[in-house]
Amino acid sequence: MSAPRIGVLALQGDVREHVATLTAAGASASRVRRPAELDAVDALVVPGGESTTMGKLLVTFDLLEPLQKRVRDGMPVFGSCAGMILLADRVLDGTSDQVGIGGLDVTVRRNAFGRQVESFEEDLAFDGIDDGPVHAVFIRAPWVEEIGEDVVPLARISDGAAAGKIVAVRHGPLLATSFHPELTGDARIHQLFVQMVRGAI
Ligand code: GLN
Repeated sequence: MSAPRIGVLALQGDVREHVATLTAAGASASRVRRPAELDAVDALVVPGGESTTMGKLLVTFDLLEPLQKRVRDGMPVFGSCAGMILLADRVLDGTSDQVGIGGLDVTVRRNAFGRQVESFEEDLAFDGIDDGPVHAVFIRAPWVEEIGEDVVPLARISDGAAAGKIVAVRHGPLLATSFHPELTGDARIHQLFVQMVRGAI
């Protein structure tokens, strides 16, 4: 089977790392900055960065509506960190003018882990990923506060003040993580997404 064409939204954020990890996971990866580039992919990764800024750039680059339509039509999307916030249907602690893509039936809280722990790393058990825990890097990360009935939680914080908080979910063709799997050299979550895009799982 030929490699699925997976775009990385390239308006802001850690685009290069996602392109490299998708390539390692067997996808044909490309950058998406224009509507025609979105039309040319089977699926999309929305990287980390700053969700408010990325939302504004989506409007400026005439990508918001085409992207919302692709999501409504069932395109697989993987959002990490700010990407999770952009996919969420409901955002707590957003800005008043925060623009999102939507489609993922969750409520997320931005910058949820608070100032003292802006960034941290933790090994997480991740449903659907074998061969040991996933090393997760959190950078001013959101968590998932509520999920709709069709949403499957895939990973939770295991201990500390945030124990039990959901930090990875799947909702049909939408996958989202609070953390940054593209930063650790471990391609297993991208492989999971590539399998989703192939329609294998
Ligand atoms: N705090 C950022 C936001 O609200 C997300 C941080 C990240 O993507 N690393 O968009």
